[in-house]
Amino acid sequence: MAESWASSDHSRRTMRANRGRDTKPELLIRRALHARGWRFRVGYRPLPQDRRRTVDIAFTRKRVIVLIDGCFWHGCSEHFIPPVANADYWRAKIRRNQERDVETNALLRAEGWTVLRVWEHESVDGAVAIIEGSLQGAISEG
Ligand SMILES: [Zn+2]
Repeated sequence: MAESWASSDHSRRTMRANRGRDTKPELLIRRALHARGWRFRVGYRPLPQDRRRTVDIAFTRKRVIVLIDGCFWHGCSEHFIPPVANADYWRAKIRRNQERDVETNALLRAEGWTVLRVWEHESVDGAVAIIEGSLQGAISEG
């Protein structure tokens, strides 16, 4: 039987690296927010029931959550290209991830969170501007 795309050690390592919490764009955004004086939780679990949702950045007092979505794992329309081998498998898998993202947004919003999703391909400055806009909106309301 032929070796599948994901079965080589190299591919597995790459996939794991891309999935981790400290992926580069997230780290850069966190660093920029921190430098501008914002404080937040990392790897926070905002849902009361165990739904296994962990969010990248949570401003718990202002109820703002930021999720930084990788272009591959979240199926960015500009950059997602399924691997040539097992393309159907990957398309289906990424579609399920996207459905889960929609569900996560709905669950979080139902709990009163503002949910911001940022693509990893977006500029750090642009992402920070969007996040700060949302946080400042939260201040004026409260
Ligand atoms: Zn992208």
